[in-house]
Amino acid sequence: MISHPMFNQNFSENLLINQKKNLHRYRCLIENREQTVAIIAGKNVINFCSNDYLNLSMHPLVKKALAKGAFQYGLGSSASHLVSGYLKPHQQLEEAFAEILNRERALLFNSGYQANLGVISTLLSRNNLIISDKYCHASLIDGIILSRAKHLRYAHQDLNQAENLLKNNLHKKTFLVTESIFSMEGTLTDISEIIALSKIYNNYLILDDAHGFGVLPAYYSAKEVPCLITPLGKAAGSMGAIVSGSHDLIENLLQFSRLYRYTTALPPAICYATLAALNIIKKENWRREKLHELAKFFNQEAIKRELPLTAYNLSPIKCILVSSNQKTMLIKNKLFQQGFFVSGIRPPTVPFNKARIRISLNCLHHKKHIIALLDQMYELINL
Ligand SMILES: *Cc1c(COP(=O)(O)O)cnc(C)c1O
Repeated sequence: MISHPMFNQNFSENLLINQKKNLHRYRCLIENREQTVAIIAGKNVINFCSNDYLNLSMHPLVKKALAKGAFQYGLGSSASHLVSGYLKPHQQLEEAFAEILNRERALLFNSGYQANLGVISTLLSRNNLIISDKYCHASLIDGIILSRAKHLRYAHQDLNQAENLLKNNLHKKTFLVTESIFSMEGTLTDISEIIALSKIYNNYLILDDAHGFGVLPAYYSAKEVPCLITPLGKAAGSMGAIVSGSHDLIENLLQFSRLYRYTTALPPAICYATLAALNIIKKENWRREKLHELAKFFNQEAIKRELPLTAYNLSPIKCILVSSNQKTMLIKNKLFQQGFFVSGIRPPTVPFNKARIRISLNCLHHKKHIIALLDQMYELINL
């Protein structure tokens, strides 16, 4: 069983138990960074755990826009959106996203976490049923808990089971919730299949496209998704999240979402810089294409070395299953010594005995780095 130790009121005992299970978390201090290199403890390492897939957070035009936005608007927005925190860059960002996502309207939340909490807790109540993938992100689960809706889960990506759950609950107002690319698996949801299911069974589909936006257009250009959530902390290289859909959906969120209303709006300079990032996503297709090329290359090289990936597709998220927490962290630390910064993912983020090394590709990575990383990985996993 995956147990989170925090139910125990004895704080030091909690920490000891956590440590014994090899579940203790450390924050890794990044002293500086440039392109795909991070400097940690004075050492240059190739960063394979950033979600900034298109490397836009450091793009010169984005930095320039951030500085210009700061010069013009200062730091904080000074209030919530409904009081006086809604400035020109917020409006422009929403309009630009409504256009690129091809939807009637878009609304900016402060983070993907807040958007997921806000959307689900506002649209659903205890009378509704939610059907979701078992591996959905913590923020979606928390939104569901906050909504008090009845919740049923299907096994990861098992759309047959999802259909059975829908068939057995035709009398209820049902919401279907899933993600485009799963963050700890790298699996892709069959978008046409999930849209078909939501049409046949007349439920309301909510799609979290955190890892798909800017990377796999099949998701963000699927107009049939009535409620699309686009967190901006990944390929957009920024922060915040856009919720997009019909005019009425957005107006409902604006009027009734506590997570939208009762928080200070993002700094306008952030929105101004995010607009610059969005323009680069539109113009510089080579970034997305290069990322796909690296994903394919990574898959081939992993197969050559018989490294067990959780999925073989165009997603930039590559997970190599190790199982044991201890061995996962050992491999992570050895890779670090050799100049590769990867993440070791352990429960409760993933199921018990499913610890893994997670590698995130970036459009500025070099093939030679992928080869060197996988060579080391091969040595370490077979120790
Ligand atoms: C990262 C992530 C979020 C949270 O987005 P933030 O903007 O970081 O709060 C939500 N859903 C998924 C699937 C994510 O990967």
